[in-house]
Amino acid sequence: MCGIVGYVGKSDRTVHVLLRGLERLEYRGYDSAGIAVLKDHHVDVVKKSGKLDCLKACVDPEWKTEIGIGHTRWATHGSANQENAHPHQVGKVTAVHNGIIENMDEIKKELSQANVVFRSDTDSEVLVALLNQIYEKCGNMLMAIEKTMKKVVGSYAVALLCEDDEEHIYVMKKDSPLLLGVGKGEMFVASDYQAFCEDTKEYVLLDDFEYGVIGRSAWHVYKDGKEFQKKIEVLEEREELSEKGEYDCYMHKEIYDIPGVLSQLFLFYEKQDTHHIPDYTKYHKIQIVACGSAYHAGCVGKAFFSHIAHFPVEIEYASEYRYQPILADKDTLVIFVSQSGETADTIYCAKKIKELGIDSLAIVNVYNSTLSRLTDYVYYMRAGEERAVATTKGYSSQVALFLIILREWMQARKCWTASLEEEYQQGKRKLFEVFPTCLKKYEQFPWISKLTEQPMNFFIGRQIDYALSLEASLKLKEVTYLNSCAYPAGELKHGTISLIEKGTVVFAIATDLDTYEKTKSNLMEVKARGAYVILTTLEDVVKEVEADEWILVPNIGHLFQPMITILPFQLLSYHVAKSFDLDVDHPRNLAKSVTVE
Ligand code: GLU
Repeated sequence: MCGIVGYVGKSDRTVHVLLRGLERLEYRGYDSAGIAVLKDHHVDVVKKSGKLDCLKACVDPEWKTEIGIGHTRWATHGSANQENAHPHQVGKVTAVHNGIIENMDEIKKELSQANVVFRSDTDSEVLVALLNQIYEKCGNMLMAIEKTMKKVVGSYAVALLCEDDEEHIYVMKKDSPLLLGVGKGEMFVASDYQAFCEDTKEYVLLDDFEYGVIGRSAWHVYKDGKEFQKKIEVLEEREELSEKGEYDCYMHKEIYDIPGVLSQLFLFYEKQDTHHIPDYTKYHKIQIVACGSAYHAGCVGKAFFSHIAHFPVEIEYASEYRYQPILADKDTLVIFVSQSGETADTIYCAKKIKELGIDSLAIVNVYNSTLSRLTDYVYYMRAGEERAVATTKGYSSQVALFLIILREWMQARKCWTASLEEEYQQGKRKLFEVFPTCLKKYEQFPWISKLTEQPMNFFIGRQIDYALSLEASLKLKEVTYLNSCAYPAGELKHGTISLIEKGTVVFAIATDLDTYEKTKSNLMEVKARGAYVILTTLEDVVKEVEADEWILVPNIGHLFQPMITILPFQLLSYHVAKSFDLDVDHPRNLAKSVTVE
């Protein structure tokens, strides 16, 4: 979602740094892009709706200028057209903004009464107009920012240029990530260090209500009118920037990354002293809070805990959890899951939990992300950069981490038995044995065209297979735009079965042997109503079921099974999207890191 990049430094680098920074942020999902550069007391703005290539086609790469800002927008207020794209320029102030200004209507009304004319429908332009109005009165950008921050309600990460100051970029931040990159004779600002990590490893993380100014060789951060000392962080765990290599898109490549990621992950967490383990014996309850695929990984985690540890786990969507009474206490461990660690909904919940002094644990991929700093314990997913908007290796590593946590939890409580350990070691060995064959095997689905014949596809399963159905269905929707939904297999008959007609595709996932027979009955119910049933089950399960098609997965034992069962559905979604000629890595309307509520 929405990206910010800014640069002040060498005149022959500015345009290159801005465009490359935006390219690095592309994976987050966006619908328009723009840059602004300042030269001779004049700001030039170029912005375009659509992909970065549309912007690049209008920018002269030879443009010489020492200072500029850039943005990829994920529209919240106003359609994704050129006028609404950032940067926005009002009077002497030009800015890019990530986030939402919640009291824009009130501010816009006041500004309109003062004859300010708006060119866009965005809340961001209202913010810039307010900044400009205050700046015109006080003539001091830092003061204007401080006053603006007192007036606006909402979330913002902002980088600003002022026509009267050719040397500096100004910044302000609340509830949306913003970092300063400290180079040699050059400085960067970005919403994500990916934007500048090729140029510098040193960065400063801004916290809420901080604002500041960066020049070529100096930077200052303020809070409440006073300069604030900030620490320079060094990017220790510098990720290799991902390249597509031989693959036609990142999603495909990232599915192939999964075995490597998981094997490193297990290796890392099985070593002593690699991470700070909570005292798992002291909790009476676990709550998992997440959104999207991370929520679905949490559903697998919940199933692990109930079936294997017999321990109750509650799971909630972050966007709901925030607005309900917090039914957690000092004996609760709240686990937050977010690939980016910047998911706004999840962050709000983590802040609330921190305020209440309740223990929390984050499962995140991005080092030093907001969520990792807000929680007491962090389990890094160590999945490397994930560039496709629809997660695959990220999801699989979250599922693996839930297994790792389960094992540590049960070991701490002395209930991880020798036979469980044997199952664990055997399952892990099998997982890596079967991965190469499975990757090859699920590259082809001869029945793909069946999915488009009906208005809706269904996924059904019970227990852990239902958790997997949720993710399989979401993946299909995300990248193919086909309508689908997931139901607990036994629940369909309580209403939704009315939608099943001749040819409706129903994916039944039945790898859980305890509920296999029951799911089989549900499958027969839909089959009797004309459904085209595609059954996913274990290779060694007797096939006396009347399915139309089969997706057979090797039986690797219940601990590791989910990591292999999801694979055909990740590949299926990719293949369907390819067959529709869609932009697999950047599905419409989606953002990778959802930094607004
Ligand atoms: N709310 C702003 C807009 O709609 C910023 C969106 C974003 O964060 O990209 O323009």
